[in-house]
Amino acid sequence: MSADPIPFHRPAFDQAELHGAVSSLESGWLTTGPQCAAFESRFAEAVGAEHAVSVNSCTAALHLALEGLGVGTGDQVVVPAMTFTATAAVVRHLGADPVLVDVEADTLGMDPDQLVDVLSERTKAVVPVHYAGQPAEMDRITSAAESVGAAVVEDSAHCFPGTYREHTIGSLSRATCFSFYANKTITTGEGGMLTTDDAELAERARVMRLHGMSKDAWRRFASGPSTYDVAQPGFKYNMTDLAAAIGLAQLDKAADLAAQRAGHAEQYVTALAHVPGVRTLARRPDRSHAWHLLVVAIDRETFGMERDAVAAALNDRGISTSIHYRPLHRHSYYRDTYQLTDEDFPVASSAGDQILSLPLFPTMTGEQVDRVVAVLAELAA
Ligand SMILES: *Cc1c(COP(=O)(O)O)cnc(C)c1O
Repeated sequence: MSADPIPFHRPAFDQAELHGAVSSLESGWLTTGPQCAAFESRFAEAVGAEHAVSVNSCTAALHLALEGLGVGTGDQVVVPAMTFTATAAVVRHLGADPVLVDVEADTLGMDPDQLVDVLSERTKAVVPVHYAGQPAEMDRITSAAESVGAAVVEDSAHCFPGTYREHTIGSLSRATCFSFYANKTITTGEGGMLTTDDAELAERARVMRLHGMSKDAWRRFASGPSTYDVAQPGFKYNMTDLAAAIGLAQLDKAADLAAQRAGHAEQYVTALAHVPGVRTLARRPDRSHAWHLLVVAIDRETFGMERDAVAAALNDRGISTSIHYRPLHRHSYYRDTYQLTDEDFPVASSAGDQILSLPLFPTMTGEQVDRVVAVLAELAA
């Protein structure tokens, strides 16, 4: 058995990204400009949305989407307990309160039944997360949100490309937010995109992503010396052309990268079925899976070790893993601000003790997948 370490993730780049980055540098125009415009129109087309607004993170996209929907002090925004802090933190940035809901035990996606119980006239938006890359239960989440007049904003940081029933993820809800962070399914190093069919929301996000100015630098440059108006105290969330040039190259190969991830995931799921105490998450037949993450749940009794010990043992054998996530209600800020306990979120709490994300990236080899599974099988014995 080879002792070469297996990283948790490696981005998949080749000459195309290098060429994009170099041409952007050579053009002399680095900030938001023609590459961003091209990336936006190609991305909008890829997901079937009217508008795509490029930004420097998914966190920025979430913030702008909720800001544009008018979320403010006293409002509530529902988010799953099993997510990254950004999903809930942006709600706090707007002075509103995140309301956590538990997740489905088999997929770890937002539980539509639990959602119904927390909705109220204060609910301004619901933010499902497409956990690990599999779309959440969107039809039921959307109809629940609509019943109280709340908008749906998808946190699709894990899911590109994706489909849910007859829809492409990015075309389904009021707004969808994507991440191009270094380890996401396509990457620009740091970056994000907001997609929407709502022209007003898109325009508001375009203005607010760059200081609330009426014209961005490229539009100011292209039209000659001109003045601009600041109508709002905006943010500094614009994407750079350098990042967008890399994004365009990644977008070209998104389907291939997704197929590579899916191939590794199938291999994992098939092989892990024979490892006692290791459970993979459920697949739903009516939607695709972007396979951002390969998450397993380690059952301490059956496996014979607890999750943290398994992670340490894998690490000792050169295999890097991660945890997505320690649920939000266990982080001191959310726990203390909202007096949350494990009993409030039994599924997320128990998953929080069991889940482990295994190495999964396009350029990994079948031998590497085999080795991860073999080490797990050996530990379980
Ligand atoms: C990565 C991630 C984010 C944040 O994305 P950035 O582009 O790093 O801001 C938000 N939500 C989830 C679920 C994520 O995994």
